[in-house]
Amino acid sequence: MDGKIGIIGTGYVGLVAGVCFAMKYPVVCVDVDSEKVDAINDGIAPFYEPKLDELLQKVSASGNISATTDIEQAVRECDYIFISVGTPSMHSGEIDLRYVKAVARDIGKSLRNMDKYIVIIQRSTVVPTTTRDMVGKIIAENSGKTTGEHFGIAFVPEFLREGNAVDDFLEPDRIIIGTEDKKVEELLHKLYADFYSQFPEDKIISMSIESAELVKYASNSFLAGKISFANEIASLAELIPGVDIVDVMAGVGMDHRISEKYFGAGAGFGGSCFPKDIKALIHFARTKAFEPIILEAILERNNRQAMHIVDLIEDIVSSIHTARITILGLSFKPGTSDMRDAPSLKIISELIERGAGEIVGYDPKANDEARQILGNRIKYADNVQDALRGANIAVVLTEWDEFRKLTPAEFKKCMAESVLVDARRIYNYDEFSSQLKFYAVGRKHHN
Ligand code: NAD
Repeated sequence: MDGKIGIIGTGYVGLVAGVCFAMKYPVVCVDVDSEKVDAINDGIAPFYEPKLDELLQKVSASGNISATTDIEQAVRECDYIFISVGTPSMHSGEIDLRYVKAVARDIGKSLRNMDKYIVIIQRSTVVPTTTRDMVGKIIAENSGKTTGEHFGIAFVPEFLREGNAVDDFLEPDRIIIGTEDKKVEELLHKLYADFYSQFPEDKIISMSIESAELVKYASNSFLAGKISFANEIASLAELIPGVDIVDVMAGVGMDHRISEKYFGAGAGFGGSCFPKDIKALIHFARTKAFEPIILEAILERNNRQAMHIVDLIEDIVSSIHTARITILGLSFKPGTSDMRDAPSLKIISELIERGAGEIVGYDPKANDEARQILGNRIKYADNVQDALRGANIAVVLTEWDEFRKLTPAEFKKCMAESVLVDARRIYNYDEFSSQLKFYAVGRKHHN
């Protein structure tokens, strides 16, 4: 095996992996979206992710990466095929496996007339048993070949965070190799040990495919659970004079058994993974006649948190019908233009539902993406100052650095009424509350 890598699906997971692997191995990226393929071949990342453009340009210039819509070409040329297509939620919350199935079928058909051994690595998040019982079987059926003999399969979960994806890929906490096939295990162990030459060997661990599939869901559920837990304590804190959630969670997080990460109280979690993965796991658990009460509570608390922000806005403004409401931050978190399941969408939709007169949104990176989803239901500003001009209330929903730098004077200068809701706890409470009508999640309000 020479180590040529095929990546099927060039979204956040696929393209980041492809570009990073291309620093060391030749890579072929495949996507059904020909615009994405053209952009990658031009050395331009089709979405915003820090460091990705520079790295893509570098590996493109070295000739180590190419993109195509032809999956057969990747199967023919490569030794490893990574499947990283989307696995969205269906309406019921059940995982939608149609893209994974289509790719497995196309890999199988491509393999039919080839005489080669290839390793297929499932990277898209899938519920336990999918990789073996669905992906493996579909490839075997369509290729007429035998799993373990002509091709091997594994599930290797991806843990990257959007906004930090390149660094996370290059410096992972662990590599989990899910396979019971000894040959696949050895090949992948070698591939990863070679790629991460400085990486401690004991952080590359092997387990069954199904355990690895569940690791991914358990990790995401736990992280989302930490956020929901912080939001629950924040809402309680708001009822107790003198308590500040930021101090509380800092104190809790200093316990090394707990850690302060993912403890930020705010507008709730969103993004392409946490909500849909928890929904998929809940649905999966129910197919096993198991009621996952903690998972359900994590989602319920998250929905209530968004509604809590809307209630707060409605309580503060004299009339929701006439107020000009400015939303600072639309993407689900800073460092990304990704709007999937962003809390801003829930909050804005509910504000509109309750009759909000005028909503102006501004995001340093996600205005275009937001426009595709929200259309003309809100207005969009090109910069913070325009967004704040004439506003009766401003609400920070995403903690972009650009917003962190704003001073009370800048809000006062632009707004019709200087009323600010800090739903991400980015401002100094004493400084802002002394100069503005200031509300912060996780603190009892005085004004
Ligand atoms: P994405 O939607 O950004 O990208 C998926 C890509 O697959 C798209 O470019 C799409 O055009 C392409 N595609 C769809 N069908 C295809 C086909 N038949 N052949 C080739 N390409 C096809 O998705 P993403 O955010 O990169 O997530 C991919 C998977 O990784 C999901 O299962 C997700 O849960 C998981 N994951 C995502 C993240 C994250 O932060 N985004 C982190 C870890 C794991």
